[in-house]
Amino acid sequence: MKKGIKLVSTITNLEYSFDRIEEFADNGESLEVRIDGLENAGIKAGKNLWERFSDFLPFSDIDESVSLGEGNTALIKADKKLLDFVGLDNLYIKNETQNPTWSFKDRGSFACIAMAKEMGENVSATISTGNMGSSISAYGAKAGIKIIVFVPEFTPKEKVMSMGIHGATVMKIIAPDYSDMKKQILSLAKKMNLRIVSGNGPFRVEGYKLTSFEMYEQMNGGIPDYIAIPTSACGHIRGIFKGYNELFIAGIISKIPKMIIVQAMNNSPIVSAIKEGKKHVVPFSNFHTVAEAITTGNPMGGDEIIHKAYKYGWLAESVTEDEIIESQKLLAESGYFVEPASATPLYAIKKLRESGKIEKTATVVTILTGSGLKDMTVLRYHKFNVTLVNVNDVEKALSNVK
Ligand SMILES: *Cc1c(COP(=O)(O)O)cnc(C)c1O
Repeated sequence: MKKGIKLVSTITNLEYSFDRIEEFADNGESLEVRIDGLENAGIKAGKNLWERFSDFLPFSDIDESVSLGEGNTALIKADKKLLDFVGLDNLYIKNETQNPTWSFKDRGSFACIAMAKEMGENVSATISTGNMGSSISAYGAKAGIKIIVFVPEFTPKEKVMSMGIHGATVMKIIAPDYSDMKKQILSLAKKMNLRIVSGNGPFRVEGYKLTSFEMYEQMNGGIPDYIAIPTSACGHIRGIFKGYNELFIAGIISKIPKMIIVQAMNNSPIVSAIKEGKKHVVPFSNFHTVAEAITTGNPMGGDEIIHKAYKYGWLAESVTEDEIIESQKLLAESGYFVEPASATPLYAIKKLRESGKIEKTATVVTILTGSGLKDMTVLRYHKFNVTLVNVNDVEKALSNVK
């Protein structure tokens, strides 16, 4: 850890020790890394993104061998079909499915494992609906750190298998409610002195900042007006905002993009709170949504995100199950096969545009958070043009297609 770095609770500003095994403050608030002297931070020369932006990162020295080559994902302007669908002139797609385990979680796992190495930890655990477990399993394998993953029963088998192949110990937990299961496992871990890497942990969030730095470079210093993010544990949105906010503090950029918080209507603890003008998370339980990557019903640290939404004028929108499936289909028809959670922002942006909350000329980035290949069960909601044809009947079949 570099000098001048603190670990602080996000609302009450209490300082905590880096040796702390739990990733949240005693009262459940998120913890965040604060770096002294950001006013003087600058961008340096360097091969890797984390070298160029090292002034903004807490690690004293990143061991390059921890990296699996995460990041460097494409930022592409959406095609006309998608622009017409959302009703915008400038929609950009940040394709995080190009990461080593096919989701943005890799950026955070890189930071968590770099940190675990620095702290000399040799075992790490996580509670995950899938991508986080796959990602940390891969990074643990590379770094020689033992990984334990607790998954809820509803986790798609593609995700469970992709944790297993990296050698992680995977426990499918039978429990009536995912949020309660998380609480139970967290308190057990505390008793057993086991670090549970959380989707909203302070070091993971430092890794997610790299997305902002990367987009800053990809847009040649330009700043989007909005960034739409499917939100569950809230780590991703916190990281992307933090990255831009720190560039702002350093005087490198003169405005901060507004975040768009997107959730499934069936589980919208943050979006519902904001729509109802509340200050606290509205907990959801016993729900079902096809967007299984965004199923945190009562996110720890969620109040801080609600607070930031009011303070910085962020937008919030939720989408129905049908809207999610339609968005997944539309993205696929434009060439992007993403999982349902990653499709939610497309429809949310359309609704926000229709209600006039976003101007037609605004520059909006939607983040494709994870690949569609890791959740094949959901494909039963789609129609496919796949037929079985006898070799002698191909000519007839083709003339029907033409
Ligand atoms: C984890 C995840 C999210 C939600 O990110 P949080 O940091 O938990 O808010 C969204 N989409 C996908 C595909 C994910 O794996």
